[in-house]
Amino acid sequence: MRKRIFALLTSLVLSLSLMTGCGETKASASTGEAASAPATESVAAEESETESVAAEESETESVSFGADTQAIIDRGVLRVGVKNAVIGFGFQDTLTGEYSGLEISIAEKIAESLGVDIEFTAVTAATRTELLDAGDIDCVLATFTITEERKNSWDFSTPYYTDYVSVLVETATGIKTLEDLKDKTVGVSSGSTSAKALTNAMIEAGVIDGSSFDADSFDAATWTEGVSFKQYDDYPAISTALSAGEVDAFCVDKSILAIYNTDTRDYIDAKFSPQDYGVATKKGSDFSVYVETLVSTWLSDGTIAGFVTENGLE
Ligand code: GLU
Repeated sequence: MRKRIFALLTSLVLSLSLMTGCGETKASASTGEAASAPATESVAAEESETESVAAEESETESVSFGADTQAIIDRGVLRVGVKNAVIGFGFQDTLTGEYSGLEISIAEKIAESLGVDIEFTAVTAATRTELLDAGDIDCVLATFTITEERKNSWDFSTPYYTDYVSVLVETATGIKTLEDLKDKTVGVSSGSTSAKALTNAMIEAGVIDGSSFDADSFDAATWTEGVSFKQYDDYPAISTALSAGEVDAFCVDKSILAIYNTDTRDYIDAKFSPQDYGVATKKGSDFSVYVETLVSTWLSDGTIAGFVTENGLE
C-alpha cells in the first residue's frame, strides 16, 4: 500500500511539475500524499517510534495541500455529482442503492487517492452546475460535455470519454433521418448541449438554412427555424412526452438515450456532435489541478481504458 502511495506521489509530482512548473509542485505533492491521508495522523504518530518508518513518514509530512483539496480531506468525504440513470456511466440500482459505471469508478478512485469516503448526489443537466456553484458538491462526473463556453464558468479535466448526440423516436412515426425532423418538435433537457447540436447538424446536413444561426447566442427556447424544442427538467419527463406525442423526438447523447430505447422506439440514422466528457470542478480551485493530474495519469496508464471496458463501453 505504502509503495503504491509513494509511486502515485512521485508520478503526480512529476506530472504537475511538467504541467505547471515549480510554483505548483507543492500542491501536487500534497495530491500524492492525500493517498496516505486516510490512515492519517494516528498511523504517523504510531510509526514515528520506528526510525526507518519515521524517515519515510517525514517525507510525506513535509507536503501540504491546496486549501480546497485540504478541505475535502479534512471533511473526510468527497461529494460527487453523478447521473443515476445512465447505464455504463452513472447508474443507481434502485433496489440496493448502489451506483455503478465509468464515472462512478473514476470518482471512487479520486476519493481513494484523497483517502476519503465518497458521497454521490444524483444530478441532472440542469442541477449539476448549481450544486457545484453552491459548494454542495466538490466535482461533477455526469456526462458533462466540455465546451468553450462552459470553460468560462468551470474547470474541466482532460476528457475521459467521448460520446455523440443522437435522436430517439417512436418507430411508428416513421421518422428515420435528420430530414424527417424538419419542422418537428424535439424534447431536450434544460441546460444541455443537445438543441444546439441538433440544429447545427440539421444545418450541416442542408435540412435547414440556418442563416440566422449563431452558436454563441443560440437559445433552444426561441429557435423555430426548421425545428423547435421543448425543454424538460429531466430525461424521464422527455420520455413520457415522447410516448404522449407531446414531442416528435428525444435528443441527447447516445449514452443517455440508451435506457429509453424501448421496443416501440428507434434511433434516427444520425450520430453527430462529439461530446467530450470531463470532470468539472470550481473554476480556479486547487482541486481542479489535483483532479487533472489524476485523470491525465489514469488516461496514460490505462486505468480509465480499463474502467471503460469493465463498464461495457467502447
Ligand atoms: N452531455 C450533454 C451536456 O453536457 C447532454 C446533457 C447531459 O449530460 O445530461 O449538455
